[in-house]
Amino acid sequence: MNALATLPLDPQTLRADFPILATTIHDNVPLVYLDNAATTQRPRQVIQTIVDTYERRYANVHRGIHWLSDQSTDLFEEAREGVRAFINAPAREEVIFTHGTTESINLVARSWGDANVRAGDEIVLTVMEHHSNLVPWQQLAARTGCTLRHIPITDDGELILDEFDKLLSPRTRLVALASVSNVLGTINPVEEIVRRAHSAGALVLVDAAQSAAHMPTDVQRWNADFVAFSGHKMLAPSGVGVLWGRRELLDAMPPFLGGGSMIRRVKVDSFEPADLPAKFEAGTPPIVPAIGLGAAIDYINAVGLANIHAYEDVLTRRAHTVLAEVGGVRIVGPALEKKAGIVSFTVEGVHAHDVAQLLDRQGIAVRAGHHCTMPLHKRLGITATARASFYFYNTLDEINLLGRALADAKHVFRRR
Ligand code: PMP
Repeated sequence: MNALATLPLDPQTLRADFPILATTIHDNVPLVYLDNAATTQRPRQVIQTIVDTYERRYANVHRGIHWLSDQSTDLFEEAREGVRAFINAPAREEVIFTHGTTESINLVARSWGDANVRAGDEIVLTVMEHHSNLVPWQQLAARTGCTLRHIPITDDGELILDEFDKLLSPRTRLVALASVSNVLGTINPVEEIVRRAHSAGALVLVDAAQSAAHMPTDVQRWNADFVAFSGHKMLAPSGVGVLWGRRELLDAMPPFLGGGSMIRRVKVDSFEPADLPAKFEAGTPPIVPAIGLGAAIDYINAVGLANIHAYEDVLTRRAHTVLAEVGGVRIVGPALEKKAGIVSFTVEGVHAHDVAQLLDRQGIAVRAGHHCTMPLHKRLGITATARASFYFYNTLDEINLLGRALADAKHVFRRR
């Protein structure tokens, strides 16, 4: 049997759909794109949908009493239905288009937070959160006087659930956590966290930015209350994101931004908000990015999330092996069975930015720094990591190349 036949998907066939992956950079070096946790690339099918929409079916949505606006509105609402099905949400109206995960979380912190959180209440976060799931809650705490608590992690980057239990109390109003850490790659036990949070009477917001494109999102199985994610991390254009929330919560929440589209009626001194989802979609929404997200979801569904997850596991295992062979590389994060396709590491004697720069010379794109997780890096006792993050169009050859390039980089530094 050839090696390919044993893989859950054929990356070479899929790569052909991604024009940018055929690019050469610097002096004719093939691009090796391993920065997928920052943003993924787009397949032709998504790019073509964007072009077709602008060329034939673009107008503003919901306001036109004209043919073109109806076309555009139909595409926009089909995309919403695509998102609903993708995350198994009970109703289309619960799917709010935002501009990204960051805005989705800010929406909840402002709208639900200001209306429901008081001095003395507590919000539970984790030490591994991205700044966009920390700062909005810090701002809420400054406005309301609520207290923030953080679930600690083991040295391997796993949440300590016994400590979580100790943090929960009748004062806990909300638990907000990432389904997958953007640095450690840890797959957090969302269902278990939700179960424990709910039994303490708290709501749960899941930051699914790093899982939505890589493993199934089932809001009903998770039993979460809010789920946020970004289009650009899942083959769609930047500028669109999603907030899903339980209808009864969204119905009771005041609007986040004020302006056009989010109202039913306006007088000079007051307004009546529109129904869901318009209530939370003030102004002209990200029309074409949302339609692109619909096309991206079709693409992901065709590849299959189970195949994607299984294939990323193959890549991640190979990455762990080749990095171990380099020597002097410390990978942060849990054991392979508990992590997604994100491998962050330090190299003895070489700063992460230098690692990234030396890899870049060989065409390999990785990210270096704190990855918007300063508290996590402080907990790990390091200032920066280099991060390689994978998607289904990456190949085992690319991972092997990463290993060779890292060995070269170490060599360069030893000579200095
Ligand atoms: N949460 C996590 C876990 C992330 O990885 C990111 C993006 N790096 C965000 C939130 C923020 O997403 P966006 O910049 O698309 O709003």
